Amino acid sequence: MKKLRYLLMGLFVLLFVFGLWYGKTRQIKEYTKTEYLLDTSCSLTFYGKEAEAAANAVFDRIREIDDMMSLYKETSDVSRINGAAAGETVRVSGDTFKVIETALKICEESGGAFDITIAPVTQLWDFGGENPEVPNEEEIAKALNSVGYQNIVLGKNNTVTKLNGCTQIDLGGAAKGYAGDCAAEVAKKYNLTGGIIDLGGNIFCFGENPKSDDGRWKVGIQIPFSPAGTYDRVVTISEGAAVTSGTYQRYFEAGGEVYHHIIDPETGCPARQDYSSVTVVLNNSLEADCLATAAYVMGREKAEEIVQKFGGEIYFE
Ligand code: AMP
Ligand code: MG
Repeated sequence: MKKLRYLLMGLFVLLFVFGLWYGKTRQIKEYTKTEYLLDTSCSLTFYGKEAEAAANAVFDRIREIDDMMSLYKETSDVSRINGAAAGETVRVSGDTFKVIETALKICEESGGAFDITIAPVTQLWDFGGENPEVPNEEEIAKALNSVGYQNIVLGKNNTVTKLNGCTQIDLGGAAKGYAGDCAAEVAKKYNLTGGIIDLGGNIFCFGENPKSDDGRWKVGIQIPFSPAGTYDRVVTISEGAAVTSGTYQRYFEAGGEVYHHIIDPETGCPARQDYSSVTVVLNNSLEADCLATAAYVMGREKAEEIVQKFGGEIYFE
C-alpha cells in the first residue's frame, strides 16, 4: 500500500514537472522576419509575447544605421566624410563616430590589415556591381595612394577630419557588427525570453534558446562554397556574437580565378589565404566584425593573436 502511494506521488511529481515544461515551451511565441538592409539579408527570430513589435523596432533601428553608414547613400555620414576636402570638419552621428572610433582601434591593432579607408580600392573592384572586372595595376596603385587610416582624425563633438581629401571610408567591414549590438539592445526592451539576430553572417544571440536542452544557442559555421545552411562545425553561445568573414560571401570569377571582397590593403587585391572563411566569437559584435575582416587578411598566426587579445575565439574554414 505504502509502495503504491510512493509510486503515485512520484508519478504526480513527474506529470507536474512535465506540465510546467510543456506549458512554458507552448507559451513562448516565436516570430521571424527577414528584410534586405545593410546590403545583405537580415533575419530576426525572437521569442516572447512582444516578439513582432520587437522585430519591427529592431528593423527601424537597423534602417537608421544603414542610412548613416552606407557608402552608397548620398546623405549618409560616410558619403559626407568621403565628399569632404582635406581639413574640413564633418560632424557625424554618435553611432557613426563610435563605429569609426572602434574600427580605427582595430586598424591600428591589426597593423593596417583592417583599414576603413580602403573605399577607393573597393569601389574600383565594385564587387556589388553588375559586371565587376579586375582593375589594372595603375588603377590599383592610384587608388592605394589615398588609403591609410592615419588620414582620419577624430575630434570633439563627434567630428571627423581627413588629412587627405582623396581619402574615403568604407564601413562595410564593421557596420553590420555594430547593427548587431544595437539590434540586441533594442530587442531587450521588449521582454523577450531570447532571440537570434542574423545580419548576413553576423549572428548575435541573447537570452534563452527554447529549442535546446541547456537554453544555449548553437550556431553552425557555413562550409564555404556549399549550399546555405551546410555546416560541420557548431559553436555554442550563451549570449554574444559569432561573425564570419568569408570569400564566398561576395565574389566574381574571371580567367579561372576567384576574386572576393576582402582586400589586402598592402596589394589592393583580394587577400589570398589557405582558408576561405574566418569566424570570430566575442560578446561585442562590432569588434567581432572588424576582427573577422582583419583576421582574414592577417593569416592564421597573427589572426589568432589579435582575436585572443580581444578575448574572443577564432575558427578557420
Ligand atoms: P566583412 O563582410 O565584414 O568581412 O567585410 C567585407 C567588406 O569590408 C567589404 O565588402 C568591403 O566593403 C570592406 N573591406 C574589404 N577589405 C577591407 C579591409 N582590408 N579593411 C576594412 N574593410 C574592408
Ligand atoms: Mg567584418
